[in-house]
Amino acid sequence: PTAKPVDPAEELTELAAWQRPLRAQFPIIAAHPDLAYLDSAATSQKPRPVLDAVQTYLTTTNANAGRGSYPWANTTTALVENTRVRVKQFLGDPDPERSSVHFTSGTTAGLRMIALDWLPAFLADGDEIVVPHADHQANLSPWLEAAELLARQGVRVHVRQLPYQAGSGDYDPQALAALVGPRTRFVAATHVHHVYGVDMNVHRLRQVVGPEVPICLDAAQSVGHLPVSVAQLDVDFVVFSGHKTMALPGSGAVWARGRHGPVLRPGGWSGTPNTVGVAGLAAALDWLTAAGTDRIERWTVALTSLLTDGLARMDAYEVLGCRTSLRADTEVQRRRSLVTFRHREIGSQDLGFILFSRGFMVRSDGHCQAGRDAEDGSVRVSLHVHNTPEEIEELLTTLASLQ
Ligand code: PLP
Repeated sequence: PTAKPVDPAEELTELAAWQRPLRAQFPIIAAHPDLAYLDSAATSQKPRPVLDAVQTYLTTTNANAGRGSYPWANTTTALVENTRVRVKQFLGDPDPERSSVHFTSGTTAGLRMIALDWLPAFLADGDEIVVPHADHQANLSPWLEAAELLARQGVRVHVRQLPYQAGSGDYDPQALAALVGPRTRFVAATHVHHVYGVDMNVHRLRQVVGPEVPICLDAAQSVGHLPVSVAQLDVDFVVFSGHKTMALPGSGAVWARGRHGPVLRPGGWSGTPNTVGVAGLAAALDWLTAAGTDRIERWTVALTSLLTDGLARMDAYEVLGCRTSLRADTEVQRRRSLVTFRHREIGSQDLGFILFSRGFMVRSDGHCQAGRDAEDGSVRVSLHVHNTPEEIEELLTTLASLQ
């Protein structure tokens, strides 16, 4: 698919007046004017309205959900139910009456919930599942574990691993076509890659796998960064983390399309929900909606493009994954809000340490990528709406001085 080439500097100028007041809403950013937080893919910072919503909940109506019938309990029950509706709206759910939302502690827990609570009952001896081969470990281990558990019960499930397309960094549709057969019952994929930053073009998967096969999407790096529409993507499950979405650690959600019914077995995970996390998630989704995920996407993609264009001019650095630029005219080449790169001589820990001494906080150890320890010698810069072109220019100046 083609897309209009964009000049990142023009894009950033156009959006500057929109971005400035949003940045001002992050107390931790305002308190540290000499530091640049460039690690939002690991966890996001929280805007003031999310912090306020959590405090208001805890100081006004904190109670358990779904149990009591006094006002605080009723308010908490309504908070949980309304936030399910909120998640559906945020994901552009076209059939909210039938779909379900389960709150989890994050993406890892959400993927495990699907793998261990829902998937086993769906599979029979000889069935096949297709899973990513080198995405986040959280999107591989649960599927392998499900297959192992089933094998112990005498049900053999074949796990096929989906390779990337050479040069583009997203999944290889031809390889997928070769992997998918009449016994394929399930496909797991990732929306935006947590190391390469590319959009994995999951909207193409449905054409290959056909209308019936459930597709599960790890959306940890896309929800909150760009508009995510389950209708457009035509997927069956979406999993994301609250802490990467401006909400609190220990919160997250699984969305499941109506045709699958609830993901949980009756009685499964029926304990007290993380009501504080739910309060934070509701406020975060409201905040992101008001800010506009389409603009957040334009802003962070333009910043990322500034960074990749700058790195491309320096011989000392190698960007991992495909070469991308906002100036290019194909969608496949659009890198999202993160870039991973290595210095040809300085190790990643040392580079991370040097960068912090100059005020930049980046990810500098392993990236939890399945089967790719080689990418460990790299650092990742990941951005969100509060980051600025000035931070990127200063980072590039610092990186240039280390050549
Ligand atoms: N999937 C992807 C693509 C991720 O980037 C991450 C976190 O980095 C996870 C899953 C795991 O998320 P969590 O640690 O919130 O469970």
